[in-house]
Amino acid sequence: MKKNKEKGILIVISGFSGAGKGTVIRELIKDTRYAFSISATTRQPRVGEEEGVHYFFLTREKFTEMIGKNEFLEWAEFCNNYYGTPKKYVENQLLQGKDVILEIEVQGALQVKEIFPECVLIFITPPTLKELQHRLESRGTEEISVVQQRLCRAREELTYMQDYDYIVINDILEDTIEIIENIVVAEHCKMSRKGYIIEKLKGE
Ligand code: 5GP
Repeated sequence: MKKNKEKGILIVISGFSGAGKGTVIRELIKDTRYAFSISATTRQPRVGEEEGVHYFFLTREKFTEMIGKNEFLEWAEFCNNYYGTPKKYVENQLLQGKDVILEIEVQGALQVKEIFPECVLIFITPPTLKELQHRLESRGTEEISVVQQRLCRAREELTYMQDYDYIVINDILEDTIEIIENIVVAEHCKMSRKGYIIEKLKGE
């Protein structure tokens, strides 16, 4: 636990499928001050994805059972698959003072904001939707029909962007990472998190 009793910050990162969130987050979590929450999903693993590293890959039955046992902080259906954040890991890491990163879609992000109003919602977007299409197609991990489905979904997600605290345009990777790190530093300095220092100073 940090000496100053501060809990970690819950950082929720969303963005259109293909916006480059994965790469950004991989870079961020090289810093051990962050803990990354591994989600559960019912989608099939992509080539190269590993159980317990990229996701916990579950059957629909197992996922539904976990919903019933209230084991998710949030969950949502996205393009015909379920995705959810296991609750225990997030709570433990926050208590230990780690800044916990969730990489989740918009419906889940808004559920988290209701439960943890002090969380920070960051939306990562490519400069244009054309660029998004290009990135999704050149990634080559999904069939054309799935790419189309994800582009449609991106248009729906546009309507939720206004509920986020920050929008970050992911053009140059290093800049994106720097911006997010600056957001986190500023969030740690907010009066709502650092107000206890006033009392401490008064007591000197
Ligand atoms: P993908 O299939 O591309 O890995 O993920 C599809 C979408 O699901 C992405 O927008 C990703 O952020 C989101 N996602 C991943 N894990 C979770 C989760 O635990 N909860 C929610 N609500 N969305 C998630």
